Amino acid sequence: MAEKTVTPPARLSVDLTGQVAIVTGASQGIGRAVAETLAANGARVAAVARNAEKLASLVAAIGEAGGEAKAFPCDVSNGEAVAATVEAVVETFGRLDILVNNAGITRDTLLPRMGDEEWDEVIATNLRGPFLFMRAASRPMMQQRYGRIVNVSSVSGMMGNPGQSNYSASKAGLIGLTRTVAKELAGRKITVNAVAPGFIASDMTDALGPALMDEVKKRVPAKRLGEASEIADAVLFLASPSMGYLTAQVLVVDGGLIG
Ligand code: NAP
Repeated sequence: MAEKTVTPPARLSVDLTGQVAIVTGASQGIGRAVAETLAANGARVAAVARNAEKLASLVAAIGEAGGEAKAFPCDVSNGEAVAATVEAVVETFGRLDILVNNAGITRDTLLPRMGDEEWDEVIATNLRGPFLFMRAASRPMMQQRYGRIVNVSSVSGMMGNPGQSNYSASKAGLIGLTRTVAKELAGRKITVNAVAPGFIASDMTDALGPALMDEVKKRVPAKRLGEASEIADAVLFLASPSMGYLTAQVLVVDGGLIG
C-alpha cells in the first residue's frame, strides 16, 4: 500500500516582537532550530556556540528569512567568556528576555572505563555552562523584572541510560538547578523551566548508528524519532510571555518513551 503523505503540522506561533533571546549551542541541531524558531516569532537572537563559521551561516539564514540575529562565539564552560558574552548581548541589543541553555555534549562509555576527563568535560559543558549563563543573565532579567529561562535537559537525566553516567548526571543536575533557580527568581517575574527531549533526529543520535536507532524507534511509543522543530516549539511555549505562572517544571518531549 502506498504511504499516505502527511501534511506537516502547523508550527506554534507566539509574539516575541521586541524581545531578545540568547540561545546556546545554536550552531547546529536543536539549538539552531530553537534560534530560527525564536527569530521567526519576532525575537532578536544572540546565537552562541564555539564554531563561528556555523554561527555565521545561521545568522545569514535568519536574516534571509526576515529575522534578526548576531553571532556571539563563546565556550559555555568558560566563566569569563560567558560573563563577557551576556554583557555584550545586553550592550548590543539593550535588553535580555529569554535564555535557552541548549549547548550539550556526550562522551559515552561504561563506568569502569569512564575517564576523569570525559566526566569533567561533560559536566563543564552541560551543567556548569547553564549555571554560568543563568548567573550572568539573571542580573539584567532581575533589573527588568522579566525573564524566561529554558534549560535543555534529557530523558537520560530522568531514567538513566547505560554508558551515559556523566551525561545523565549532568542532565539530572540541570533539573535540580532549574527547580532551585526557578524558586529563587520567581518573585522577580522570571520563570525557569526545563525541556527533556527523548530521541531527536540530530548528529547526536546519528552517532548511535542505524542498528541502534531501529531498536530505539521500536521502544518509542510514537515509533519515530522527534524532530528538532518539535523541541523548538516546546521551548517557544515555555518562553512565551503568557507563561508567567509556569515555572520549575520539566516538559518531557519524548513520544511517550518514559511516560
Ligand atoms: P548537537 O547537534 O551535537 O549540537 C550541540 C551544540 O552544542 C552545538 O551547537 C555545539 O556547538 C554546542 N556546544 C557544545 N559544546 C559547547 C561549548 N563548550 N560551548 C558552546 N557551545 C557548545 O546536539 P543536539 O542533538 O542538537 O542537542 C542539543 C541539546 O539537546 C544538548 O544539550 C543535548 O544534550 C540535548 N538533547 C539532545 C537529544 C537528541 O536526541 N539529540 C536528546 C535529549 C537531549 P559548537 O561545537 O560550535 O560549540
